[in-house]
Amino acid sequence: IKKIGVFTSGGDSPGMNAAIRSVVRTCAYMKIECMGIYRGYEGMIEGDFKAMDARSVNNIINKGGTILKSARSLAFRTKEGRQQAYDKLTEAGIDALVVIGGDGSFTGALIFNQEFNFPIIGIPGTIDNDIFGTTYTLGYDTALNTVVEVIDKIRDTASSHNRLFFVEVMGRDVGHIALNAGVGAGAEEILIPEENLGLERLLESLKRSKASGKSSSIVVVAEGDKTGKNVFELKEYVETHLPIYDVRVSVLGHMQRGGSPSCFDRVLASRMGVRAVEALLEGKTNLMVGIQDNKITMTPISKAIKGHTKIDLELMRVSEIMTT
Ligand code: ATP
Repeated sequence: IKKIGVFTSGGDSPGMNAAIRSVVRTCAYMKIECMGIYRGYEGMIEGDFKAMDARSVNNIINKGGTILKSARSLAFRTKEGRQQAYDKLTEAGIDALVVIGGDGSFTGALIFNQEFNFPIIGIPGTIDNDIFGTTYTLGYDTALNTVVEVIDKIRDTASSHNRLFFVEVMGRDVGHIALNAGVGAGAEEILIPEENLGLERLLESLKRSKASGKSSSIVVVAEGDKTGKNVFELKEYVETHLPIYDVRVSVLGHMQRGGSPSCFDRVLASRMGVRAVEALLEGKTNLMVGIQDNKITMTPISKAIKGHTKIDLELMRVSEIMTT
Protein backbone atom coordinates (compact mmCIF):
# COMPACT_ATOMS: atom_id res chain seq x y z
CA ILE A 1 0.00 0.00 0.00
CA LYS A 2 1.49 3.32 -1.08
CA LYS A 3 -1.35 5.80 -1.17
CA ILE A 4 -4.51 5.74 0.94
CA GLY A 5 -7.65 7.63 -0.01
CA VAL A 6 -9.87 8.81 2.85
CA PHE A 7 -13.45 10.06 2.51
CA THR A 8 -16.64 10.74 4.44
CA SER A 9 -19.98 9.54 3.12
CA GLY A 10 -23.67 9.57 4.02
CA GLY A 11 -24.89 11.68 6.95
CA ASP A 12 -22.17 13.70 8.65
CA SER A 13 -21.39 13.37 12.34
CA PRO A 14 -19.18 15.18 14.86
CA GLY A 15 -15.81 13.45 15.05
CA MET A 16 -15.47 12.83 11.31
CA ASN A 17 -12.83 15.57 11.07
CA ALA A 18 -10.92 14.08 13.99
CA ALA A 19 -10.96 10.74 12.13
CA ILE A 20 -9.74 12.34 8.89
CA ARG A 21 -6.94 14.01 10.84
CA SER A 22 -6.00 10.71 12.40
CA VAL A 23 -5.91 8.84 9.07
CA VAL A 24 -3.85 11.60 7.42
CA ARG A 25 -1.35 11.85 10.28
CA THR A 26 -1.00 8.08 10.62
CA CYS A 27 -0.17 7.92 6.90
CA ALA A 28 2.43 10.66 7.40
CA TYR A 29 3.84 8.78 10.38
CA MET A 30 4.04 5.55 8.38
CA LYS A 31 5.57 7.49 5.48
CA ILE A 32 2.91 6.67 2.95
CA GLU A 33 0.86 9.12 0.92
CA CYS A 34 -2.69 10.16 1.71
CA MET A 35 -5.35 11.69 -0.52
CA GLY A 36 -8.53 13.33 0.66
CA ILE A 37 -11.52 12.45 -1.52
CA TYR A 38 -14.18 15.16 -1.54
CA ARG A 39 -17.98 14.56 -1.38
CA GLY A 40 -17.87 10.82 -0.78
CA TYR A 41 -18.50 8.51 -3.72
CA GLU A 42 -19.62 11.45 -5.84
CA GLY A 43 -16.17 13.05 -5.65
CA MET A 44 -14.54 9.67 -6.15
CA ILE A 45 -16.32 9.30 -9.49
CA GLU A 46 -15.30 12.82 -10.51
CA GLY A 47 -11.71 12.46 -9.31
CA ASP A 48 -12.12 15.30 -6.80
CA PHE A 49 -8.97 14.49 -4.81
CA LYS A 50 -6.46 16.49 -2.83
CA ALA A 51 -3.10 15.32 -1.50
CA MET A 52 -2.99 15.72 2.28
CA ASP A 53 -0.05 15.88 4.62
CA ALA A 54 0.17 16.22 8.37
CA ARG A 55 -0.25 20.01 8.12
CA SER A 56 -3.40 19.84 5.98
CA VAL A 57 -5.35 18.75 9.01
CA ASN A 58 -4.26 21.44 11.48
CA ASN A 59 -7.03 22.78 13.73
CA ILE A 60 -9.80 20.45 12.64
CA ILE A 61 -9.97 18.03 15.59
CA ASN A 62 -12.42 20.38 17.31
CA LYS A 63 -14.63 21.06 14.28
CA GLY A 64 -18.03 19.49 13.62
CA GLY A 65 -19.08 18.39 10.14
CA THR A 66 -16.47 17.17 7.67
CA ILE A 67 -13.87 19.23 5.80
CA LEU A 68 -13.99 16.65 3.00
CA LYS A 69 -17.77 17.23 2.68
CA SER A 70 -20.22 14.40 2.38
CA ALA A 71 -22.72 13.42 -0.27
CA ARG A 72 -25.11 10.75 -1.36
CA SER A 73 -24.27 9.36 -4.77
CA LEU A 74 -26.78 7.71 -7.07
CA ALA A 75 -24.11 7.10 -9.73
CA PHE A 76 -22.08 4.91 -7.37
CA ARG A 77 -25.02 2.53 -7.18
CA THR A 78 -24.42 1.73 -10.86
CA LYS A 79 -21.68 -0.47 -12.29
CA GLU A 80 -20.59 2.33 -14.67
CA GLY A 81 -20.29 4.78 -11.79
CA ARG A 82 -18.13 2.40 -9.80
CA GLN A 83 -15.97 1.67 -12.86
CA GLN A 84 -15.41 5.40 -13.26
CA ALA A 85 -14.50 5.68 -9.58
CA TYR A 86 -12.02 2.83 -9.98
CA ASP A 87 -10.44 4.50 -13.02
CA LYS A 88 -10.06 7.82 -11.19
CA LEU A 89 -8.54 6.16 -8.12
CA THR A 90 -6.08 4.17 -10.22
CA GLU A 91 -5.15 7.25 -12.23
CA ALA A 92 -4.32 9.05 -8.98
CA GLY A 93 -2.32 6.09 -7.69
CA ILE A 94 -4.68 5.47 -4.75
CA ASP A 95 -4.49 1.80 -3.82
CA ALA A 96 -6.57 1.53 -0.64
CA LEU A 97 -9.52 3.33 0.99
CA VAL A 98 -10.69 4.37 4.43
CA VAL A 99 -14.42 5.09 4.39
CA ILE A 100 -15.94 7.04 7.26
CA GLY A 101 -19.72 6.65 7.25
CA GLY A 102 -22.71 4.48 8.03
CA ASP A 103 -24.40 1.33 6.77
CA GLY A 104 -25.02 2.54 3.23
CA SER A 105 -21.46 3.78 2.75
CA PHE A 106 -20.13 0.42 3.97
CA THR A 107 -22.43 -1.49 1.61
CA GLY A 108 -21.10 0.55 -1.31
CA ALA A 109 -17.52 -0.06 -0.18
CA LEU A 110 -18.08 -3.80 0.03
CA ILE A 111 -19.57 -4.00 -3.46
CA PHE A 112 -16.65 -1.93 -4.76
CA ASN A 113 -14.19 -4.32 -3.12
CA GLN A 114 -15.90 -7.36 -4.60
CA GLU A 115 -15.82 -5.87 -8.08
CA PHE A 116 -12.30 -4.46 -8.15
CA ASN A 117 -10.54 -6.21 -5.26
CA PHE A 118 -9.81 -2.77 -3.79
CA PRO A 119 -8.69 -2.81 -0.12
CA ILE A 120 -11.10 -0.94 2.16
CA ILE A 121 -11.45 -0.36 5.88
CA GLY A 122 -14.48 1.32 7.47
CA ILE A 123 -14.79 3.73 10.39
CA PRO A 124 -18.34 4.02 11.77
CA GLY A 125 -19.43 7.66 11.69
CA THR A 126 -23.06 8.33 12.57
CA ILE A 127 -24.81 9.85 15.56
CA ASP A 128 -27.39 7.06 15.65
CA ASN A 129 -25.08 4.44 17.16
CA ASP A 130 -26.83 1.85 15.02
CA ILE A 131 -23.88 -0.15 13.70
CA PHE A 132 -23.16 -3.68 14.80
CA GLY A 133 -19.59 -4.43 15.92
CA THR A 134 -18.95 -1.29 17.94
CA THR A 135 -20.35 -0.09 21.24
CA TYR A 136 -19.98 3.50 20.07
CA THR A 137 -20.07 5.15 16.65
CA LEU A 138 -18.33 8.48 16.03
CA GLY A 139 -20.59 11.38 16.88
CA TYR A 140 -22.98 9.54 19.15
CA ASP A 141 -21.46 10.81 22.39
CA THR A 142 -21.42 14.39 21.11
CA ALA A 143 -25.05 14.11 19.99
CA LEU A 144 -26.05 12.82 23.45
CA ASN A 145 -24.36 15.79 25.10
CA THR A 146 -26.04 18.20 22.69
CA VAL A 147 -29.46 16.70 23.33
CA VAL A 148 -29.02 16.72 27.11
CA GLU A 149 -27.93 20.35 27.04
CA VAL A 150 -30.97 21.34 24.99
CA ILE A 151 -33.42 19.39 27.15
CA ASP A 152 -31.97 21.11 30.22
CA LYS A 153 -32.88 24.41 28.59
CA ILE A 154 -36.34 23.22 27.64
CA ARG A 155 -36.78 22.10 31.25
CA ASP A 156 -36.16 25.67 32.45
CA THR A 157 -39.03 27.05 30.42
CA ALA A 158 -41.21 23.98 31.02
CA SER A 159 -41.04 24.34 34.78
CA SER A 160 -41.56 28.12 34.70
CA HIS A 161 -44.91 27.54 32.99
CA ASN A 162 -45.84 24.12 34.41
CA ARG A 163 -45.76 22.67 30.94
CA LEU A 164 -45.45 19.25 29.41
CA PHE A 165 -42.99 19.02 26.52
CA PHE A 166 -42.70 16.33 23.89
CA VAL A 167 -39.12 16.51 22.62
CA GLU A 168 -38.40 14.65 19.38
CA VAL A 169 -34.85 13.39 18.93
CA MET A 170 -33.20 11.52 16.05
CA GLY A 171 -33.61 7.76 15.84
CA ARG A 172 -35.83 6.25 13.14
CA ASP A 173 -34.94 2.65 13.86
CA VAL A 174 -33.03 2.75 17.12
CA GLY A 175 -33.65 4.51 20.41
CA HIS A 176 -30.09 4.91 21.67
CA ILE A 177 -30.16 8.71 21.65
CA ALA A 178 -33.67 8.92 23.13
CA LEU A 179 -33.00 6.43 25.89
CA ASN A 180 -29.61 7.69 27.00
CA ALA A 181 -30.29 11.40 26.64
CA GLY A 182 -33.68 10.81 28.27
CA VAL A 183 -32.13 9.26 31.35
CA GLY A 184 -29.35 11.87 31.35
CA ALA A 185 -31.81 14.75 31.22
CA GLY A 186 -34.23 13.19 33.72
CA ALA A 187 -37.12 12.75 31.28
CA GLU A 188 -40.42 11.57 32.76
CA GLU A 189 -41.03 9.21 29.87
CA ILE A 190 -39.01 7.92 26.93
CA LEU A 191 -40.60 6.56 23.77
CA ILE A 192 -38.37 4.44 21.53
CA PRO A 193 -38.74 2.29 18.39
CA GLU A 194 -37.80 -0.93 20.19
CA GLU A 195 -40.57 -1.06 22.80
CA ASN A 196 -44.20 -0.08 22.75
CA LEU A 197 -45.15 0.78 26.28
CA GLY A 198 -48.58 1.86 25.20
CA LEU A 199 -50.37 5.19 25.30
CA GLU A 200 -52.40 4.20 28.36
CA ARG A 201 -49.22 3.81 30.32
CA LEU A 202 -48.05 7.22 29.14
CA LEU A 203 -51.26 8.84 30.40
CA GLU A 204 -51.01 7.02 33.73
CA SER A 205 -47.45 8.09 34.17
CA LEU A 206 -48.22 11.72 33.33
CA LYS A 207 -51.14 11.68 35.73
CA ARG A 208 -48.91 10.34 38.48
CA SER A 209 -46.31 12.93 37.67
CA LYS A 210 -48.79 15.77 38.04
CA ALA A 211 -50.27 14.33 41.24
CA SER A 212 -46.84 14.00 42.81
CA GLY A 213 -46.38 17.75 42.47
CA LYS A 214 -43.91 17.94 39.59
CA SER A 215 -43.81 21.35 38.00
CA SER A 216 -42.88 20.16 34.51
CA SER A 217 -42.73 17.03 32.45
CA ILE A 218 -40.47 16.09 29.58
CA VAL A 219 -41.23 13.16 27.31
CA VAL A 220 -38.38 12.26 24.96
CA VAL A 221 -39.60 10.69 21.73
CA ALA A 222 -37.40 8.97 19.13
CA GLU A 223 -38.47 9.74 15.53
CA GLY A 224 -39.47 6.13 14.97
CA ASP A 225 -41.12 5.48 18.33
CA LYS A 226 -43.34 2.45 18.44
CA THR A 227 -46.57 4.11 19.55
CA GLY A 228 -46.83 5.04 15.87
CA LYS A 229 -47.68 8.64 16.78
CA ASN A 230 -45.37 11.54 16.07
CA VAL A 231 -44.83 14.31 18.63
CA PHE A 232 -47.65 16.45 17.26
CA GLU A 233 -50.12 13.56 17.37
CA LEU A 234 -48.93 12.74 20.88
CA LYS A 235 -49.61 16.33 21.93
CA GLU A 236 -53.13 16.09 20.54
CA TYR A 237 -53.70 12.75 22.20
CA VAL A 238 -52.67 14.01 25.62
CA GLU A 239 -54.63 17.25 25.24
CA THR A 240 -57.74 15.19 24.46
CA HIS A 241 -57.31 12.47 27.06
CA LEU A 242 -55.59 14.38 29.82
CA PRO A 243 -56.60 18.02 29.64
CA ILE A 244 -54.73 18.91 32.84
CA TYR A 245 -51.60 19.71 30.86
CA ASP A 246 -50.43 22.66 28.83
CA VAL A 247 -48.55 20.76 26.13
CA ARG A 248 -45.75 21.94 23.84
CA VAL A 249 -43.63 20.24 21.22
CA SER A 250 -39.97 20.67 20.34
CA VAL A 251 -38.37 18.91 17.38
CA LEU A 252 -34.60 19.07 17.74
CA GLY A 253 -33.71 18.14 14.15
CA HIS A 254 -30.35 18.65 12.51
CA MET A 255 -28.75 20.57 15.34
CA GLN A 256 -28.16 17.12 16.84
CA ARG A 257 -25.67 16.37 14.07
CA GLY A 258 -23.59 19.50 14.53
CA GLY A 259 -21.20 21.01 17.00
CA SER A 260 -17.71 20.52 18.27
CA PRO A 261 -17.05 16.84 19.04
CA SER A 262 -16.82 15.76 22.68
CA CYS A 263 -13.46 14.65 24.06
CA PHE A 264 -14.74 11.09 23.92
CA ASP A 265 -15.45 11.31 20.19
CA ARG A 266 -12.09 12.98 19.48
CA VAL A 267 -10.18 10.26 21.28
CA LEU A 268 -12.27 7.52 19.67
CA ALA A 269 -11.73 9.03 16.21
CA SER A 270 -7.98 9.26 16.79
CA ARG A 271 -7.79 5.63 17.87
CA MET A 272 -9.96 4.38 15.02
CA GLY A 273 -8.00 6.31 12.38
CA VAL A 274 -4.70 4.83 13.52
CA ARG A 275 -6.12 1.31 13.50
CA ALA A 276 -7.70 1.74 10.07
CA VAL A 277 -4.39 2.68 8.43
CA GLU A 278 -2.48 0.00 10.33
CA ALA A 279 -4.98 -2.62 9.20
CA LEU A 280 -4.58 -1.66 5.54
CA LEU A 281 -0.80 -1.84 5.89
CA GLU A 282 -1.19 -5.31 7.43
CA GLY A 283 -2.97 -6.35 4.25
CA LYS A 284 -6.44 -6.46 5.81
CA THR A 285 -9.60 -5.47 3.99
CA ASN A 286 -13.41 -5.45 4.31
CA LEU A 287 -13.23 -4.78 8.03
CA MET A 288 -14.75 -2.08 10.20
CA VAL A 289 -12.88 -0.62 13.13
CA GLY A 290 -14.93 -0.55 16.32
CA ILE A 291 -14.62 -0.24 20.07
CA GLN A 292 -15.75 -2.93 22.44
CA ASP A 293 -14.88 -3.10 26.16
CA ASN A 294 -12.64 -0.10 25.51
CA LYS A 295 -10.53 -2.14 23.09
CA ILE A 296 -10.22 -1.31 19.41
CA THR A 297 -11.69 -4.23 17.47
CA MET A 298 -12.23 -5.25 13.85
CA THR A 299 -15.51 -6.66 12.54
CA PRO A 300 -16.20 -7.90 8.99
CA ILE A 301 -18.14 -5.15 7.24
CA SER A 302 -20.57 -7.80 6.00
CA LYS A 303 -21.52 -8.45 9.64
CA ALA A 304 -21.51 -4.79 10.63
CA ILE A 305 -24.14 -3.90 8.03
CA LYS A 306 -26.38 -6.88 8.72
CA GLY A 307 -26.24 -7.10 12.49
CA HIS A 308 -28.55 -5.20 14.80
CA THR A 309 -27.50 -3.17 17.78
CA LYS A 310 -29.37 -3.82 20.98
CA ILE A 311 -30.82 -1.19 23.22
CA ASP A 312 -29.92 -1.45 26.90
CA LEU A 313 -33.31 -2.30 28.35
CA GLU A 314 -31.89 -2.09 31.85
CA LEU A 315 -31.85 1.66 31.22
CA MET A 316 -35.64 1.60 30.78
CA ARG A 317 -35.92 0.22 34.30
CA VAL A 318 -33.52 2.83 35.64
CA SER A 319 -35.55 5.54 33.94
CA GLU A 320 -38.76 4.21 35.48
CA ILE A 321 -37.26 4.17 38.97
CA MET A 322 -35.87 7.67 38.52
CA THR A 323 -39.29 9.09 37.70
CA THR A 324 -40.84 7.98 40.98
P1 ATP B 1 -26.27 7.53 7.38
O1 ATP B 1 -27.35 6.51 7.22
O2 ATP B 1 -25.67 7.56 8.75
O3 ATP B 1 -26.64 8.87 6.86
P2 ATP B 1 -24.97 5.99 5.35
O4 ATP B 1 -23.54 5.77 5.05
O5 ATP B 1 -25.78 4.79 5.73
O6 ATP B 1 -25.02 7.09 6.45
P3 ATP B 1 -26.37 6.26 2.80
O7 ATP B 1 -26.96 7.48 2.21
O8 ATP B 1 -27.24 5.10 3.06
O9 ATP B 1 -25.64 6.78 4.12
O10 ATP B 1 -25.16 5.78 1.87
C1 ATP B 1 -24.16 6.65 1.41
C2 ATP B 1 -23.79 6.36 -0.01
O11 ATP B 1 -23.26 5.04 -0.13
C3 ATP B 1 -24.92 6.39 -1.00
O12 ATP B 1 -25.26 7.68 -1.41
C4 ATP B 1 -24.37 5.56 -2.16
O13 ATP B 1 -23.54 6.34 -2.97
C5 ATP B 1 -23.53 4.53 -1.42
N1 ATP B 1 -24.29 3.27 -1.34
C6 ATP B 1 -25.23 2.93 -0.44
N2 ATP B 1 -25.76 1.71 -0.73
C7 ATP B 1 -25.15 1.29 -1.85
C8 ATP B 1 -25.25 0.14 -2.67
N3 ATP B 1 -26.10 -0.85 -2.40
N4 ATP B 1 -24.45 0.05 -3.77
C9 ATP B 1 -23.58 1.04 -4.07
N5 ATP B 1 -23.45 2.16 -3.34
C10 ATP B 1 -24.21 2.31 -2.25
